[in-house]
Amino acid sequence: MYDVYLSLGANLGDRRLALETAINALKNVPEINVQQISSLYQTAPVGGVKQDDFYNCALYLRTSLTPTDLLVKLHQIEAAGKRQRKIHWGPRTIDLDILVYDDLKIQTKSLTIPHSQMHRRSFVLVPLLEITTGKLHKQTLILLQRLGDQQRIEKIGSVFNEADRVEKN
Ligand code: ADP
Ligand code: MG
Repeated sequence: MYDVYLSLGANLGDRRLALETAINALKNVPEINVQQISSLYQTAPVGGVKQDDFYNCALYLRTSLTPTDLLVKLHQIEAAGKRQRKIHWGPRTIDLDILVYDDLKIQTKSLTIPHSQMHRRSFVLVPLLEITTGKLHKQTLILLQRLGDQQRIEKIGSVFNEADRVEKN
């Protein structure tokens, strides 16, 4: 089993539900064991395109899948989440990125691990800091300190909201 950290983001339609749906889909993959989910954050879009704020979280999982096979699963989950629904539901979008896969370093056409942009993005590093321990936690903290806090990011609760939790108990 390999230790893997993902970044999840959504900025269209019901953003919290999009993240929740993606996490449930991950939980349904037999080779994936979801271990921990960070708090839910609302963050300013990065890159200059005018668009809604993002909802972001980070997730820690253990898996027997290779990086390539995991990416295929993530793409399948993204494809399901990006489906157009009835008009009043509106479109929704979901982005799933592999941040860290064990101690692996790879750079291929389809996959760069650790993620090539993570050191520039507080919306990735702040949630990641919450769910890491040991060496990875220290490394994440150093990256965050280097980055400073120029990006707007606000903790707004948890992906699985109160109402859901009450229902399930
Ligand atoms: P972005 O995540 O940069 O906003 P996309 O989600 O459309 O954009 O990803 C584009 C491509 O990035 C994916 O098809 C995938 O092949 C590639 N990619 C490279 N490294 C990674 C990674 N660590 N995690 C996820 N996708 C990655
Ligand atoms: Mg992506």
